[in-house]
Amino acid sequence: MHVIRGGRVADVDGTREADVVIADGEIVAVGPNAVAEIGGGEAVDVETDASGSVVAPGLIDAHVHVMMDGRPDVATAVSDSDYTASYRAAGNLRAALEAGVTTVRDLGSRGTLALDAGEAVADGEIDGPRVLACGRNVIMTGGHGNWFGREADGPSEVRKAAREQLKAGADVLKCMATGGVLTEGAVTGAPELTPEELEAFTDAAAPTDTPTAAHAHGEQGIKNAVEAGITSIEHGTFMDREAAEMMADRGTYWVPTASALRGIVDHGVEAGIPEDAVEKAEDAADRFDDAWDHALEADVSIAMGTDAGTPFNFFADIPRELAYMVDHGLSPEGALEAATVNAADLLGLDDVGRIEEGYRADLVVLDADPTEDVTAWQDPEAVFAAGERTE
Ligand SMILES: [Zn+2]
Repeated sequence: MHVIRGGRVADVDGTREADVVIADGEIVAVGPNAVAEIGGGEAVDVETDASGSVVAPGLIDAHVHVMMDGRPDVATAVSDSDYTASYRAAGNLRAALEAGVTTVRDLGSRGTLALDAGEAVADGEIDGPRVLACGRNVIMTGGHGNWFGREADGPSEVRKAAREQLKAGADVLKCMATGGVLTEGAVTGAPELTPEELEAFTDAAAPTDTPTAAHAHGEQGIKNAVEAGITSIEHGTFMDREAAEMMADRGTYWVPTASALRGIVDHGVEAGIPEDAVEKAEDAADRFDDAWDHALEADVSIAMGTDAGTPFNFFADIPRELAYMVDHGLSPEGALEAATVNAADLLGLDDVGRIEEGYRADLVVLDADPTEDVTAWQDPEAVFAAGERTE
């Protein structure tokens, strides 16, 4: 058994003094008397001194693309071989883990790349966070991300496309309800899949209770997706008050991906990002501030996601998203909740997000309390994934 001793523990239940005992990848005791609870010091083989530090749950990123590496122009990755994309994914996953991210959800990579990456991590072939994945994105012909998505038109074809992903082992289904920033010619907020197609999409996921995610910037596309019963709205950049209220009513999660807009707006054309994408991102930035106001006012449930892999949005920087969320008005406690229990709930996981007996030992050791200083997430002293310490 392994004990992390002498520190404080911070999760959604607050910050308190506690030791954490880990065995077989699981948390087996937490509290000031945790070591006594497991039968005393003799049972402890390894000890990590956490005095002065804070132990928090590993972060959960609900929106990444493991095959992308933050290059300015995503379109240049089209010609890379599948092998190159796979090695890149392995590098991204290692970077995420070292940054304290212990679970990621891939919302669109080519073929079965991300699904296979999840298996490679589970089998110990590569180091990385636990990976849940959607397989291929379901999009209308010519829609956003058509260069790697599964194009489908009409309810029956969309249903088939969704079922193909489930057959391939998808943990979540992802579709495009509107255009996007990074596909040249696509209009950012314009609806793409129709309400009927979205219905067929969520219907395909229903029998297995598989979560569904919709990329949606424009308010109409957001509302179409919410009405179809989608589990999470990704980006939600132009969310208006009505959309926010609909989401709060139905319990639809919002995954804001603030890092994605920042990556584009902060670097711009000079850094090699296509002009079309920069213009669209700049237009979106103001509206995104309003979206936050509406979401916070309506009390929409927020889960953390970054869209890591998009321009200048690196896997190593994922923990910055919590600080961005706080910039937008969320409390540091709210950011912790978004990146732990809310993201776990969205992903359908009940064994991560808390420091509690029976939970997976996915932990970060931080030099400050992240509910007092949200930047504390950005430089973990140690990271544990299922109890294994990452060097
Ligand atoms: Zn994305």
